[in-house]
Amino acid sequence: MTAPDFPAAPAPLSFGGTPRIYPMRLYGDPVLRRKARPLSPGDTLQVPGFAPQTVREVADTMLETMFEERGVGLAAPQIGLPVRLFVAVEYADDEEENEGQDKPLRSRVLREYVMLNPVVKALDKKKDRSYQEGCLSIPGIYEDGVPRMRRVSVSYTDLGGQPRTLEAEDYLARVFQHEADHLDGKLFLDHLPAVVTEDHRRELLKIQQASKNFLSHLAHWNSTAHLRENL
Ligand SMILES: [Zn+2]
Repeated sequence: MTAPDFPAAPAPLSFGGTPRIYPMRLYGDPVLRRKARPLSPGDTLQVPGFAPQTVREVADTMLETMFEERGVGLAAPQIGLPVRLFVAVEYADDEEENEGQDKPLRSRVLREYVMLNPVVKALDKKKDRSYQEGCLSIPGIYEDGVPRMRRVSVSYTDLGGQPRTLEAEDYLARVFQHEADHLDGKLFLDHLPAVVTEDHRRELLKIQQASKNFLSHLAHWNSTAHLRENL
């Protein structure tokens, strides 16, 4: 999820080895519509186009990617991995702190979250619509009024394999719900009337085209893998 005023930067388009950050999967990419599978902290994961990594390495690079793209959360399907993993961050919301947006985002971090197999439950049935929402996979589109539960508990496994539960409210609760949705193939626009998606038709078509370009670039990389192995 992106906070308002944080436009997403274009993702770099180079594959191979271990990336510093991952390229972002965009609206229109089928991986964003798949139901992700559960994972264990000991799994080996392979982000398409890159070398295999541990879950911890992937989570670290996801955090790096999220900061680079000025996001507040990032789910594994958004980097092409259909597994139930997301990262999120809570920033200091002190007015003064927020003024200098040129400052590295990391200097404003209150807490980082890495959650495996998260399950979100409502602690308050009342719906909240009071924040604007955006998504790193749908760059440039922000909407008010996405209904979210105001208070939630999230049960998850941490990187050490420990089961944990925490409670969150307001904006952080929204972030967790947005990221958990990604693991079920759901996007924030799905929660709004169809007319909203229709209103953004032109921008969404552009994003879908960018997604197609990315996927054909990736397919080309994969189809030429045997040539690189023989070098
Ligand atoms: Zn998102």
